[in-house]
Order: sequence, then structure tokens, then C-alpha cells
Amino acid sequence: MQQNEGDNSGAAGLVEKRWFFEYLDHIAGTELKARSALQGSTQMRYAAARARQGGLPLSQIAAERMLAVLKPGAVVLLTTGTGNPVWLPQGETDGPSGIAVLASAFAALKHRVCILSEKHFLPAILASVQAAGVPVLASDNWSQRPFGALAVEFPQGKAAAHEFVPHFLDGQPDAAVALFVEKPGPNAAGVFHNSSGKPKAPDWVGHLNVLADQARARGIVTGAVGDGGNEIGFGMIREALTGVHPYAAQCGCPCGKGIIDATEVDFLFPAAVSNWGAYAMAAAMAASLARPELMPDWREVEASIVAPIAHGAFDGYTGMSVSTVDGTSLQANKAVFRLMCEVLQLAAAPAR
Ligand SMILES: [Zn+2]
Repeated sequence: MQQNEGDNSGAAGLVEKRWFFEYLDHIAGTELKARSALQGSTQMRYAAARARQGGLPLSQIAAERMLAVLKPGAVVLLTTGTGNPVWLPQGETDGPSGIAVLASAFAALKHRVCILSEKHFLPAILASVQAAGVPVLASDNWSQRPFGALAVEFPQGKAAAHEFVPHFLDGQPDAAVALFVEKPGPNAAGVFHNSSGKPKAPDWVGHLNVLADQARARGIVTGAVGDGGNEIGFGMIREALTGVHPYAAQCGCPCGKGIIDATEVDFLFPAAVSNWGAYAMAAAMAASLARPELMPDWREVEASIVAPIAHGAFDGYTGMSVSTVDGTSLQANKAVFRLMCEVLQLAAAPAR
């Protein structure tokens, strides 16, 4: 099929490609956790999300929803950034590379992206995005170019979010998709938690759930990737997880409402590692368009994993300043990424 710039009509072949999306989902869900309390939880979250969204592969749903609204000139909002002042003051290695690979795919599709996070997380995220080959631009340049990334600092605290978001969205009339990757959201009591149940200080975090809610209300397609349950988007399956998810009913903190986020989005993809879910969503767009070249090379992906470390990001599991992601080795990340690229080659090959 002839593909023109900004023409996403290749998505028509999605039904016949169902198994390629199954493969992408499987690869992104390859659970490699060393802690017994976490083992098996990826499949539990994935199964609940898949049942809730109608049963199709989740990477397929993500690609369908995004490609349907990504008309020429459309802008994509990308958010990530997780941490806490003591252990991960400038963020972690899971999240930035996922955003970087998505930003790279959107740049290849000639879409501008806007990257939002708190000021303490932005440097590591932007380093990752640039390492993947996507230029981070000043606002004037960004608005005049067909692709590239704009960085926007999201304020900390709840009141500041409510003040900031309407003005921000007014200034982004071309925003068509908003993605939340490994981005913590509050539970039903409005309390943010880390994945093991500890509450986060509300004035230290950006309340990006406000962006998710208001973007969705304006008709922007919202999607989320997470690997814990405390991230934005898990509101979709909050009830299904209550009683089966560790810390779902009880977080152990005084709020007593559990860690599960209460934010609703249009599509949710629980993965073993959030970066892998983001890679799978980018790969699913590439598969549905039969354009494997939308994915960056592994060398750029590797650079996008490593670059945040020089800006203070640590591994979120160990708190060490090393190039592992949620405790998984760089070699494991390479294997996961390469397997997804293998699927893209199969999806792009003539039907046999
Ligand atoms: Zn709590």
C-alpha cells in the first residue's frame, strides 16, 4: 500500500494482523521479577485490562485508537516521571526510554510531541528523548516544524495542576492523543502511593491525573501504560483488582484505600516493565502501518535507557545508578526490543 506523509490508512489491515499484536503483548508482558510478592501480578493486571477492553490484544487497541485520530498536524502529549525525594529524587530508568521510543515513532510519522513532567524528572526524560534521536526544541521552533519535542514543566501539587491544565490545553488545540507511561496517579481517596504502598507527599508530585481527566473531557484520546497498578490509567480496572492485587484493598498507610489509581483513560496496557509496554505500542503502530522503520535502532534505544543516569535517574527497584530497568539487565531489554522488531519484520512481509 502506498503510504503518504501523515496518511495512516494502512491501519485497515489490523484484523488480519491480530496475531502480531498478540506477540507484541506477550513480549511486553514477559515478567522477570525477583521478588516473590510481585511474581504473577503482571498477568493478573493484563488479563483484567484485556477483559475490560473487549478481549483484543492491548497493543492493537492502542494502535487503533491512536492512528484513528492522528491526522496531519496532530500533536501527541507524552508524560512520565516516577520517584520520591529520598530514593529516586530525579526519577528512574523505567519511563523515559518508553517515552523516547514513542516520541521517535511519532517523529517518524511527522507528529510533534509535547513532553510533560515535574521539574525534578524532566532533565533525565529529555536526555532520553534526545538520545533516541528526537530533537527537543524551543517553543517557537517546535510550533513551526512538522516534528520534534517540546518540554513543558508540570507544576507540583493539586491546586497548581487545576490552575495549570486548562491554560495548557487551551494552548494545544492540535493535541489529539495523551499518553501516560509509568506516571503515578491518586487512589479513590486522592492519595498517591508507590508500588509497595507508601504514600507520596501530595505537594511533591505533579497531579497529571488532572491532565488525563481534562484531556479526555475535551475529546483527546488518552492511553496509559503501567507495571504496578498505582499508575494513571488503572482506574479502569480498579474494581477487578480489588481483592486480588497486593496492596489493592489496603496500602498500609492511614488513607486505607489501597494503592490502585482511580484515573480513567480510553485505553490501558499493563506490562511487565512500563518501557516495554510503550515499545509495544510504538511497534503496534508500525505493524499496523507495515512500516517497521518507524522504530528506532537498538543503539538509540540503548542510549535512551542509559542517558537518564547521567541526569540522576536510578533503577527503580534497586535505587542504584546503573543501566538496569526495574531490575532487568540491559541485555534483557535488548532481547525484548529485538523480539518486537522481529514481529515487525513478520508483519511487514508479504502474506504467505
Ligand atoms: Zn494509602
